[in-house]
Amino acid sequence: MKDYEKIWSNILDRIAVLVSPACYEIFFIKLKPVALRDGKLILMAEHSVKNAIMKNFSAPLNMAVRESMEQIEGVSIIVKDQLSDYVEDEVIDNKKEFVPSIKKIIFQKNYTFDNFVIGDSNKYAAAAAKAVAEAPGTNLNPLFIYGMPGLGKTHILHAIGNEILRNNHDLRVYYTTAENFTNDLIYSIRNSNNTELARQFREKYRNLDVLMIDDVQFLANKTSSQESLFHVFNDLYTSEKQIILSSDRPVKELTYIEDRLTSRFASGVVADIQPPSFETRVAILQKKAFHYKIDVSQEVIEFIAEKEKYNIRLMEGMLKTVGYFASLNNRPAYNIDFVMEALRDSSNNQSNEININKIVEVTCNYFNVKFDDVCGKKKTKELVEPRQMAMYLVTVLLPEIPLATIGQFFGGRDHTTVIHARDKLQQKIAENNAYKKRAEDIKNLVYNK
Ligand code: ADP
Ligand code: MG
Repeated sequence: MKDYEKIWSNILDRIAVLVSPACYEIFFIKLKPVALRDGKLILMAEHSVKNAIMKNFSAPLNMAVRESMEQIEGVSIIVKDQLSDYVEDEVIDNKKEFVPSIKKIIFQKNYTFDNFVIGDSNKYAAAAAKAVAEAPGTNLNPLFIYGMPGLGKTHILHAIGNEILRNNHDLRVYYTTAENFTNDLIYSIRNSNNTELARQFREKYRNLDVLMIDDVQFLANKTSSQESLFHVFNDLYTSEKQIILSSDRPVKELTYIEDRLTSRFASGVVADIQPPSFETRVAILQKKAFHYKIDVSQEVIEFIAEKEKYNIRLMEGMLKTVGYFASLNNRPAYNIDFVMEALRDSSNNQSNEININKIVEVTCNYFNVKFDDVCGKKKTKELVEPRQMAMYLVTVLLPEIPLATIGQFFGGRDHTTVIHARDKLQQKIAENNAYKKRAEDIKNLVYNK
């Protein structure tokens, strides 16, 4: 393998976890590394592929280049006509094609079965999930898990992914949210008006052994996504590949999703997750406190478990707030008065929880710019950093908000813009202490507001 092929192969590994398998195979796999020139990796592609990548995927491409840690300054995509400008004739060897294979997704490391506390409320879902992880594609197909937000659906899906890959590294396991599935479909067919491309998109899913789609309720009213998923579902199901779905409501409440799809969702095993009992909440908090190294007493844990009964994510948020408060004051969180003080704002006053509005508002105040400008269309220089900073902080402080939703909030921007902003800021913070300090200052202001 030549140097530039090796470099590209490493970058492709990163790309594989940043885009869907369909986009990966329709676009990125078609790029052919041909040379290294002035510190840049030169990739060749057809016009249509080049245009699609430049238009829709330059953010994940650049991010992959950075994350691969290769010593290159970037990549340039050229078309065949330009090839002779970069490569001498005798070097062009069309016979030996560079054919990378599809790479696997990386699941959240902490979302394992070991870290998942089982109680009466989730034991059925957890048992079904474990059975699927042990023998994907056999008799529990599809697996449909539903429950209210914050009860562990995404955790379980990732746990299945982690477990399957631990048992069998070669399986092609893919996780996506219904929202990303929809976005990928839109980006693949946008501007091309090309039904062939839509068909190709669908076909790429055929190669998977396990497909997980999180939060399928998002497909409501999205006719072409439903249509696509319907075909993907049938392809996978008939070839006995495992399908796993999650939803925030039961199948029969998925109105605005076609019957032919919902009836398939319900055709295998359906498992619900209920809000956990007090004992389970306490056990979860103990596990999380240990995990985050938060020094709290049993009394405090029980106090928090009493306070939030329906949403584990919120409960975890309280624990973290207490931990944060304790570290600010440099003392452990052992007594209730102390904890009440830490949680005073968040428990009595809803407006004090961290939300996207607050993050943007604090950032705008800090930079002395207007909220409406930062979330508007203006592109003036003085808005660049506040906007990037605000987007970055939202992705960091509210990781559960989908990137597309964040883009929407910032004046209807694309999710790739959010990715770009986040990466830019991350890079600046890594390279420059002034950025780091500003990010820290604003974060503290958000927490303390
Ligand atoms: P959902 O996808 O249902 O909205 P998540 O899977 O994102 O919920 O869970 C929210 C948070 O709660 C995550 O941090 C997750 O690890 C945690 N969590 C939920 N259920 C459990 C459990 N039974 N044991 C440990 N942690 C849990
Ligand atoms: Mg979820």
